[in-house]
Amino acid sequence: SVNIDTEDLVQKDRDYLWHAMAKHNEKALPFIARRGEGSWFTDMDGNRYLDGVSGLWCLNLGHGRKEIALAAFEQMMSLSYFPLTLSHVPAIELSAKISELLQGSYRTFFSNSGSEANETAFKIARQYHAQNGNPGKYKFISRYRAYHGSTLGAMSATAQANRRMKYDPTAPGFLHVPPPYSYRSSFGDMPNSDLAAADFIDQVISWEGAETVAGVIMEPFISGGGVIIPAKEYLVRVAEICKKHDVLLILDEVVSGFGRTGKMFGFMHSDEVKPDIITMAKGLTSGYLPLGATAVSSKIYEKFKENGTHNHLRHVSTYGGHPASCAVALKNIEIIENEQIVQRVANLGESILGKLHDLTALSKVGEVRGKGFLYGIELVEDKVSKTPVSEELMGNIIAACTKKGLIIGRNGDTVPGFNNVLIIAPPLSSTEEDLDFVVDTVEEVLMEFCK
Ligand code: PMP
Repeated sequence: SVNIDTEDLVQKDRDYLWHAMAKHNEKALPFIARRGEGSWFTDMDGNRYLDGVSGLWCLNLGHGRKEIALAAFEQMMSLSYFPLTLSHVPAIELSAKISELLQGSYRTFFSNSGSEANETAFKIARQYHAQNGNPGKYKFISRYRAYHGSTLGAMSATAQANRRMKYDPTAPGFLHVPPPYSYRSSFGDMPNSDLAAADFIDQVISWEGAETVAGVIMEPFISGGGVIIPAKEYLVRVAEICKKHDVLLILDEVVSGFGRTGKMFGFMHSDEVKPDIITMAKGLTSGYLPLGATAVSSKIYEKFKENGTHNHLRHVSTYGGHPASCAVALKNIEIIENEQIVQRVANLGESILGKLHDLTALSKVGEVRGKGFLYGIELVEDKVSKTPVSEELMGNIIAACTKKGLIIGRNGDTVPGFNNVLIIAPPLSSTEEDLDFVVDTVEEVLMEFCK
């Protein structure tokens, strides 16, 4: 009967379901997950796979945490829904917890996703400048290779050509600059090319006219765009540049937030960076329910106060800050803290990165980059030309890993031909055995394909 079920499901999948991103391949079997347990899931035929990309970098605590499911259940039974035009307990508690975790005085607006958290940030930034007497500051600067979401504004900040070209024109006022990508620096082969990338932002702001620029949005570490880890001074320099020009620093912590890189937030790898706005989603609930959050510093929020009335942000989200999502987020954070997940990621991450780094001995492994439980392996034809390997080889490597029971990812489409970074981001709660399996499998497969 399992087989009959599966056939029926496959047919329905082919007939009715529109998959995200991928071309709908009528011939390939859809990859249907049936159950999950910890870092693993099984397909309809009972094959087991370790999810080496945590779903879409969100399933940070793995499948099947009963405490999280119960938190959702209990909240749904006691107060199923309530809007945040008014207020409810889990949203209040969660906003206070987020401010505590950010180690500052932050106020949070809740939404449903990372894209929406970024959209909210753009609106807040523009309105902040307007209320601060600078209504002409409307432009946003982001970086090539970055992904910030799928909705119109977030897509306009996204600078991966293939994600946008069919949907032009994108929103006006979004500019792009080179990433701090020392392996293929836009500034030539020089020491500190990452600082040159930061200083370029300074120039762009000056050329555009600082009086027209509202904000800079970036991830502390580019994730889906190829795991790009800048020199530590990069973000410090960018923060200084933003401050100098009264440009808001918006950090997209949708992937890096809640421990992924070995700190609670990515910007905490440096003591000197104090972002104006931080956006979060994914790891906020470890993927158990949808939730987005946009946290703004008190400096920003002050400008939204007028005669004792605070709420003239003309923005609302019916489901944003859903009580069950907030309850799940609170439980998720409680587990992260009780199990010292962040410290664990920092400690284990170093040794995993060390092991993956040894793969650079292979002729096609150009560079291995990473932080915490986020790794990228950039593959090249040879190390001198750095020509990206073919799409076909990338596909074969990923398929070989899948065959051995390990799901890994690759960077999203940037310039065609540059989709040559394998991405590995296992759940933060993966056991040491799980992590050994990830490293060993990647090693075996690359030894075969990248000698
Ligand atoms: N920002 C970053 C850095 C992301 O990786 C993503 C999702 N991959 C988003 C924003 C958008 O999040 P969502 O898919 O929840 O809208």
